[in-house]
Amino acid sequence: MPAIKDEAITLRRLDYSETSQVLVFLTREHGCRRLIAKGIKRGTKKHFATGIDLLERGQIMFVSKSQSDSSLGTLTEWRQLDAYLGLRDDLRRLYGGQYAAEITTAMSEEAEPDVGLFDALRELLEGLACGADPLPLLVGYQCAALRSAGLWPDLSRCIVCGRPAPAGRAGFFAVHQGGLACRDCEPGIVEKRKVSGATLDALREARLTPHTARDAFDLLNYAISHIIGRQPALARFLLTGT
Ligand SMILES: [Zn+2]
Repeated sequence: MPAIKDEAITLRRLDYSETSQVLVFLTREHGCRRLIAKGIKRGTKKHFATGIDLLERGQIMFVSKSQSDSSLGTLTEWRQLDAYLGLRDDLRRLYGGQYAAEITTAMSEEAEPDVGLFDALRELLEGLACGADPLPLLVGYQCAALRSAGLWPDLSRCIVCGRPAPAGRAGFFAVHQGGLACRDCEPGIVEKRKVSGATLDALREARLTPHTARDAFDLLNYAISHIIGRQPALARFLLTGT
């Protein structure tokens, strides 16, 4: 059982006994991993150890029974690289980071590596920690998470009749069909949602204004909620107050 070295971001933490933690990490090269960190909260008389916090990035070493093993592995080393302190100054930015952690945990397969997704999460946390507006950054991350899961919707044509969807025109977004339906085909689809042409163009071109960022976030959150079977807990806090 050789130890594996990687870079990782904490997605979930659960205190386990007085001195240990169970952590869910997104690693850069080894996908999502659930690891137990034994004794990580054991302090000394001078030094109080609190363990590893959510949304920290660090260098880790861990042992798991096999390369693709999805059972609980053991964290043997942690060296913090970034605590993203700027993220913790502002509740909305912190919620943004927690939202990203929640959808990542819900949408990623264990031990399925995706370097692009890891880099997108790191960029998101860096942006949030620098004080950027959360919604445009979060839309970028929602796109990355949907692409990583192979569930990016087709916004270029009607998924029923195949006619191209012209720029600037509103459409009906149907999650289970994986894309847009035109006006003629939408009556036959039960679960759908109308989207403005401006929001569709913003998503196609990855160019967001404050207004389209809110709509695009709402739309992709709707898609993600259907995919994971529940509404992410912090979505409504991110949608209010903008
Ligand atoms: Zn159609």
